[in-house]
Amino acid sequence: MLPDSVANQIAAGEVIQRPASCLKELVENSLDAGAKHIQVLVRDAGKTLLQVIDDGKGMSETDARMAFERHATSKIREAADLFELRTMGFRGEALASICAVAQVEILTRQEEDELGTLLEIHGSNVIRQEPVQCPKGTNLKVKNLFYNVPARRKFLKGDQTERRNLLNEFYRIVLTYPEVQFTYVEDDEILIDLPATNLKQRIETIFGTGGKQSFTSQLVEIRTENNLINIYGFIGKPEAATKNAKQYFFVNGRYMRHPYFHKAVLNAYTGMLGQDMAPAYFIYFEINPETIDVNIHPTKTEIKFADEQMIFPILTATIREALGKFNVAPSLDFNTDGHIEMPVITHPEHTSFEQPVITRQPTYNPFHSSQRMTPPQSWQKLYDHPSEPIRAAEPTLPIPVSFTDLPLVQLNGKYILLPTDEGLLLVNQHRAHINILYDLCLRRLQDHDGQVQQLLFPDVWDIDRTDLPLVDVLVTDLRSIGFDLTALTPVSYSINGVPAMLAGNSSIPVLQNILDTIRDLGLSARQQWQEKIALSMAQSTAIPYGKTLTQKEMQHLLEELFSLQKYRYTPDGKNVVILLSQEQIGRFF
Ligand code: ADP
Ligand code: MG
Repeated sequence: MLPDSVANQIAAGEVIQRPASCLKELVENSLDAGAKHIQVLVRDAGKTLLQVIDDGKGMSETDARMAFERHATSKIREAADLFELRTMGFRGEALASICAVAQVEILTRQEEDELGTLLEIHGSNVIRQEPVQCPKGTNLKVKNLFYNVPARRKFLKGDQTERRNLLNEFYRIVLTYPEVQFTYVEDDEILIDLPATNLKQRIETIFGTGGKQSFTSQLVEIRTENNLINIYGFIGKPEAATKNAKQYFFVNGRYMRHPYFHKAVLNAYTGMLGQDMAPAYFIYFEINPETIDVNIHPTKTEIKFADEQMIFPILTATIREALGKFNVAPSLDFNTDGHIEMPVITHPEHTSFEQPVITRQPTYNPFHSSQRMTPPQSWQKLYDHPSEPIRAAEPTLPIPVSFTDLPLVQLNGKYILLPTDEGLLLVNQHRAHINILYDLCLRRLQDHDGQVQQLLFPDVWDIDRTDLPLVDVLVTDLRSIGFDLTALTPVSYSINGVPAMLAGNSSIPVLQNILDTIRDLGLSARQQWQEKIALSMAQSTAIPYGKTLTQKEMQHLLEELFSLQKYRYTPDGKNVVILLSQEQIGRFF
């Protein structure tokens, strides 16, 4: 049996990774306690102090003491309750975890009690407990986070980054509770003051600049309700798109990331956005909790929906309708009438919304006319399928059959330009390569046939103790993509060989990146690791912007790209290929 303090520290490794995760847990507790005003006080990016003061229902003396035990929660009693969650928390892990890795001081009082409770806990040890006079609610100070876990403290990023993490976490929460007042104080200065209001005003207060044009005047309201899902919120007008647009999804009052639904949103904007421009969105889903993965890990923001394939077209249609109604997209073609209806989807995979598969012959040689492949013209017909209107919305790309005889131009060391009959195809070289490497890496992971390139001088990979359980499992995957690793000490591995695809990149940062992404998912989401590993690996090793490519290299890159089943977007939903149509080009003149 591990002593509690150790068990808590291990749990803390998963739940509390940085000041921002601490903020999330504390503020969610305040919300669960029915607070109407929540103050967050931060010092030194939360590293020396993170304090949350609420006017919620507080705790009795016994409850306060109990709250810091592992698996102590007042929010659920049995497994069935998991499917009717009305609270943000339910694991009973957060406070125990925080107390294991910080110096915590709590003041709490229930309305009906005359005296409140003061409790001080350092690294799971109760230092002090006494009755005190204090306002109703809970006032919790987390001091010197990770004071007793130097390895984790070292792992924290610089103040600027942690500060940004804190604010991002804060935004995610305050955007779900506009009716609650929030105050954010940074190093004794009020940074953000959010009065209780409605959603639109809340968005304005956070993201508006107070300039002539309000932020929300650039947004359009969306709303749809049916027996599967309710969707509401705001989306940005296409002309207000920016490079770093604010994009938020929430489900049942929780922030989530959802690359697949992100694609559904972008789908609705097809043809309306400039390159690399993205629309803002604040989209809220309300759905029967039984149809989503409820056992959400506190640090995991990706949520699985049972009916995501049905929700995809509903989302796209809702956005299109809103854009059309507000007349922000007068040129939209609405002749696909049925698109508010739920289309019948027969494909089990969500790839059904992507471009059709183009089969190519690897041995094809354009100079042997007898071998000439007929351009795959008939596949456009796939787009006319009446039950899948969303597909019709996505213009097909005119991909040449061969690239060997095409003169290609590289622009700014970033894009490859490819003239076609329909217009100019622009391919983002870095992202194209990400897709190629992603595909390769996924196959390696599945077939365990990574090619190893032995190193003359092995590297040493030091591992944070708290990551050991993860790394133990991760090495299997790493070996299958071609890392030759042997345990050196209990907390380090010797890297004797690296995957050939790593090319000239040094291995430690790549491994560390992979570990960072895996850590977000946690051990419980093991089945999603492979995609993340592949993406992380591809992102760290893809040819960078600014790299000059020869004709041959460009041709090769495009060949490989267009032989993929999914080439049009990166796995995280970014555009890889864009068509500037003849018509669009014509309009410039
Ligand atoms: P969970 O939120 O998953 O129940 P936590 O460890 O975050 O677990 O909190 C444990 C318990 O402590 C909660 O169930 C709740 O009863 C109590 N608690 C925590 N924070 C507050 C607060 N700000 N106000 C009132 N009660 C709280
Ligand atoms: Mg909690």
